Amino acid sequence: MSRPRGGGSAEPSGQSGGGRKLLVVGAGVAGLAVVRVLRAWGAEIEVVERTATPDVGGAGIFLPANAARGLRALGLEDAVVGSAVRIERQRVADHSGRVLYEVGTGDLWQGIAPTVATHRAALHGALLDGAEDVKIRWSTSPESVVPDGPGVDVTFDDGSTGRYDLVIGADGAHSTVRRLAFGDVGLRASGLHAWRLLAPRGDLEPVWSVRLGRGASFLTFPISPDLAYYYCDVSADDADAGLAGLVARFAAPVSELAAAATVAHSGPIEEVSLDSWSCGNVLLMGDAAHATTPNMAQGAAMAFEDALVLADTLGSAASIPAALRQYEQRRRPRIERVQQQTRRRDRTRGMHPAVRDVLLRTVGKRLFHANYRGLHAEP
Ligand SMILES: Cc1cc2nc3c(=O)[nH]c(=O)nc-3n(C[C@H](O)[C@H](O)[C@H](O)COP(=O)(O)OP(=O)(O)OC[C@H]3O[C@@H](n4cnc5c(N)ncnc54)[C@H](O)[C@@H]3O)c2cc1C
Repeated sequence: MSRPRGGGSAEPSGQSGGGRKLLVVGAGVAGLAVVRVLRAWGAEIEVVERTATPDVGGAGIFLPANAARGLRALGLEDAVVGSAVRIERQRVADHSGRVLYEVGTGDLWQGIAPTVATHRAALHGALLDGAEDVKIRWSTSPESVVPDGPGVDVTFDDGSTGRYDLVIGADGAHSTVRRLAFGDVGLRASGLHAWRLLAPRGDLEPVWSVRLGRGASFLTFPISPDLAYYYCDVSADDADAGLAGLVARFAAPVSELAAAATVAHSGPIEEVSLDSWSCGNVLLMGDAAHATTPNMAQGAAMAFEDALVLADTLGSAASIPAALRQYEQRRRPRIERVQQQTRRRDRTRGMHPAVRDVLLRTVGKRLFHANYRGLHAEP
């Protein structure tokens, strides 16, 4: 099963999944991307989703060029990128708004694809449409997932059962599939607490713009002609002071901006790190396998890449276990690099501002380019 490089829709070819049964747990970014790309594999696909209706919360999402490239390979570029806001620059400033460095997204990605921002609901809607006739069983969650020889036995909370050739856990950082099949492993606190806000766009320019305060950050970008998205985080130890405590660490107009916005989501940020992403014929993908803090905004891009690489390996390998081994060999170096760089960037941001701001003014732009250069190549 090979896919076109650099454009067109990814249609699996080669070894067929005909006669096989695939279960995808979670109809989020990763789950719907894998459904999209595996429709043509030929397997019978079932999807279960815990929520009763599509529900992604009312917040925005930043999609760097490798995410847009992934959407192109999934055949969904027009559906998402077409209605998103093109982000031309990324700007890093100190707590007062004084610019430390700026990066042009065209320069950063060398024309691979546009960098855009959109409403999560818009991305999710396009991915749901992309699943086409694959049926999603809403309000359904697995209660047991037992790898058994060449198959996996699953029971669901509605009393139904099934045996599958492959189970994909795409059920997020707090993955139930991971807990049931792998045990209580992988999840750890990042030490950050985040708020996501929506606000009228006003005259906000098409720039990803972050201010770094003492132990806190405040990021803004537009997600539609009318709407802006703000993301802010603070050390979890300081989260008790609430959003008001966080924004007080910045000069005007941050407090005013936050006061005029609506909080869409607030919570601790977790990471996931595992020695292996598969257990028998159960595979974890997306945040279930490798959640990070969002400072590189690589969550969606990595989920799309996971789906595309899985389609490649399932189509070309002699068996599902061989495909899962090849998948992990191909994905692990890239995912680990993103995880390591994300942690390094979080540590830099957490430095004392007097040191950090000098460092970033001097080498920030170079480091930023270096962080993303490894993602230019196709996965
Ligand atoms: C504050 C914050 C900001 C972020 N900003 C960005 C950004 O700007 N750009 C970016 O690319 N990434 C961003 N990310 C990361 C991005 O949101 C994730 O990487 C991405 O959503 C992962 O998708 P996923 O499908 O793996 O998991 P999820 O999006 O969590 O989806 C999992 C799905 O599984 C379902 N599910 C869960 N449990 C079960 C169960 N037991 N049974 C059935 N279904 C279940 C859930 O309801 C959900 O639909 C951010 C993350 C955070 C925390």
